[in-house]
Amino acid sequence: MDCCLIYMPMQFFHDHFPDISRDETKTIPITAVPGMPAIALFEYYCTELACGCQSGKLGVVSIAKPKTVLASVSFSLTAHIDSSVDIEFTSPMMDREKKKISQALLRALRDKRYQNLLAEHRLLLRARIFDLVTEPMRKNTVLYH
Ligand SMILES: [Zn+2]
Repeated sequence: MDCCLIYMPMQFFHDHFPDISRDETKTIPITAVPGMPAIALFEYYCTELACGCQSGKLGVVSIAKPKTVLASVSFSLTAHIDSSVDIEFTSPMMDREKKKISQALLRALRDKRYQNLLAEHRLLLRARIFDLVTEPMRKNTVLYH
């Protein structure tokens, strides 16, 4: 994962696929936390095309206040996704609330269907980045007869 730390090529899935993002961004009810009925998980992926790290990040926001990022979650879409999950809280919160959110995030990331959705979104985004990167080359290609 060193490549990501150096170049930070993480890109926001929503910027490239707003419609899919609107339909498929995961939301989780957090009923145990007053004032925070649900959280949404915004997806970011490593888009360094030469990199095979399978890294992603989730920006955790409260649906009530989507502009405030509560936490960021790093993960790698590998068989051992659990050992790669790193949750960092970026907004002040009670320990009890952090615990509830952490539990919900881990439960979500252990779900195979959600992992498959994330893997699909990662591939879509990387294909889009590949197109954007190679488009100028395709346009400038001179065909010799
Ligand atoms: Zn990477």
